[in-house]
Amino acid sequence: MSGSLRLLPPGTPAQKHDHFDLVLGDRVLRLRDPRRFGAVLWTSESLDSHPLLAALGVEPLSRALDPARLYALTRKHRAPVKQFLMDGRRIVGVGNIYASESLFRAGIDPRLPANRLSPAQCARLARAIKATLRAAIRAGGSSLRDYVGADGGRGDAQSRHSVYEREGKACRRCAAKVKRVVQGARSTYYCPGCQKRK
Ligand SMILES: [Zn+2]
Repeated sequence: MSGSLRLLPPGTPAQKHDHFDLVLGDRVLRLRDPRRFGAVLWTSESLDSHPLLAALGVEPLSRALDPARLYALTRKHRAPVKQFLMDGRRIVGVGNIYASESLFRAGIDPRLPANRLSPAQCARLARAIKATLRAAIRAGGSSLRDYVGADGGRGDAQSRHSVYEREGKACRRCAAKVKRVVQGARSTYYCPGCQKRK
């Protein structure tokens, strides 16, 4: 994503898209949010009952997302599994890139209706989501450091994608050509050789 939370010395001038400072003694925690998807909540309520948070789904990196939970969550949803993964009311934090990448890692066709996933596929997918997000967090961390330290060039997270934005290129695993389909007005990338309906 394009936003950031950074620790800065107090008095650092605000730049465009800097919306919020939390002053912490000799540091300032600054929110930059160009796309305005972020929010800062000041509340004494329980977070679980806050209107912006109450309807959110399972945290993918928590133990709550295990194979049995994913299987149960998918039963009522006939939408393609790619769209199911991106629905924050079911699972939070799996955006367009990591939905495609997780399904590749799990070997599952993104067009398969969510309620057709087998228990074995749900087990692979739960593992794949966690592994994909953890790898992305590591790559994002290193690209952020590169970005700040060098000339503003891009990090290498992009070059690590298995299928995302690789339409027509050879799959890194089986060499079939990566395909793109549009689902819910978003591009989905997948490998017809590696990703199956069963
Ligand atoms: Zn492949």
